[in-house]
Amino acid sequence: MDKSKNQENCFFCKKKLNFWFTSLKKHKGNKVCSNCAMKIAKKEINESKQITETKVTCVSCGKIWHYGKEEQTENCGNSMHQLGKSMMCCAGCVPALFIPNKQIKDFDKCPDCNSKAIKKEKVIHNVE
Ligand SMILES: [Zn+2]
Ligand SMILES: [Zn+2]
Repeated sequence: MDKSKNQENCFFCKKKLNFWFTSLKKHKGNKVCSNCAMKIAKKEINESKQITETKVTCVSCGKIWHYGKEEQTENCGNSMHQLGKSMMCCAGCVPALFIPNKQIKDFDKCPDCNSKAIKKEKVIHNVE
């Protein structure tokens, strides 16, 4: 999973990187352009606005759900009442709301059909 070697675009602004434009500073192993490196230094880019979570797809019934950080679950719960803005996220987080004590137990099983035939992938959300 070593993508960074072939990374040609800035992690943040997706601008194409060339020798002069690439910052020597890396962001979590990802290349960034000198512009964005500056913004990171000046805290103009808030790293916490990016959430990495795992998207799980049930191969049997096609259900899709997500899991990630705990604070993200809370975020989802709140924003669901407010705006329903992060629909994609919330659809996956709904099952978590029904589980007491935030104990999300079996990630490797479909909550709908209990199938263990699942597919996992990492997704990154930009929360604004
Ligand atoms: Zn950039
Ligand atoms: Zn299923």
